Amino acid sequence: MLKNVKEYFYPESLNEALDLLKKKGKSARVVGGGLDIIWRSPKDIEYLIDLENLGLSYIEEDEENIKIGAKTTIGEAQKSLVVGKLFKGKLTEVFSEIATPIIRNVITFGGSVARNYPWSDITAILLTIDASLVIFTGEEKEMTLSEFMRVEIEEFLDEAIIKEVRIKKFDPSYHFSYIRFTRTASDIPLLNEGMLLKFDKEKRVEDAIVVIGARPFGPTRMETVEEFLLGKTLTDEVIGKAKELVMETVKVADDMRISGDYRRELSGVLTKRNLMRIREEI
Ligand SMILES: Cc1cc2nc3c(=O)[nH]c(=O)nc-3n(C[C@H](O)[C@H](O)[C@H](O)COP(=O)(O)OP(=O)(O)OC[C@H]3O[C@@H](n4cnc5c(N)ncnc54)[C@H](O)[C@@H]3O)c2cc1C
Repeated sequence: MLKNVKEYFYPESLNEALDLLKKKGKSARVVGGGLDIIWRSPKDIEYLIDLENLGLSYIEEDEENIKIGAKTTIGEAQKSLVVGKLFKGKLTEVFSEIATPIIRNVITFGGSVARNYPWSDITAILLTIDASLVIFTGEEKEMTLSEFMRVEIEEFLDEAIIKEVRIKKFDPSYHFSYIRFTRTASDIPLLNEGMLLKFDKEKRVEDAIVVIGARPFGPTRMETVEEFLLGKTLTDEVIGKAKELVMETVKVADDMRISGDYRRELSGVLTKRNLMRIREEI
């Protein structure tokens, strides 16, 4: 447990939280849901800075975006009517498949993105739908999740706090599908794949994002297959070729859970399933 914690702070503003974080340095952590902090119990933690009083637990929408405060739990997003409107409820469905209800009611968007586990469902899903983050560094800055994933996250968050996740309001020409492959329903993914395809009126692919994570490395765009899909209709032949392309190009490895060879096979299977699911929908 966190035996070395000396003080637990409830700042009243983002400025106060950031000042504390900077002042206390590596011995301080921002608390989202706190589940990861408790689970790993790093010995160097002496100060905890809880975002509870900052009003960051919200889901709002404007004309362009759905805005999810960093303190919002996955469970809250799963129940949100605003999130439910996106992709005919598909996002709600995939959020409700993550872990267990108790875990979903604790883990937050901010904590999940900050922790950035390579197998994370949340980052794989958010990367697939090209989500952005609002980061507080004394002022608010927006950056895409893919930009955020290219920085040294731990060092970056020594002097920054994630305030919000932003999801664009995609029009009905966009279709989303996500599959997490796990040993048991509540386990972490052994491989995951998200897909976002935009279709024109002739049902040809106009835009494509394909993301594979838990390889066991972090989520990555599958650019070769994205390019291949452009301008195509989802015939059996196209789906078969996309499956092959993913298996040929995906970078996978062994870990204690499964082999790289198995992951490679799975990458093809998940690609085929995602494409077939989307084809049924368009
Ligand atoms: C038992 C268990 C099962 C899990 N199962 C899954 C799963 O199936 N799928 C999945 O995707 N994930 C899963 N997770 C992972 C979970 O998404 C991450 O552990 C996540 O970090 C937990 O969120 P939290 O809000 O509790 O984080 P916290 O413990 O609060 O924080 C985690 C880290 O993020 C930092 N942080 C938190 N909020 C912010 C912020 N707003 N700005 C900057 N830094 C911040 C903290 O300082 C800390 O370093 C699981 C975790 C556990 C413990």
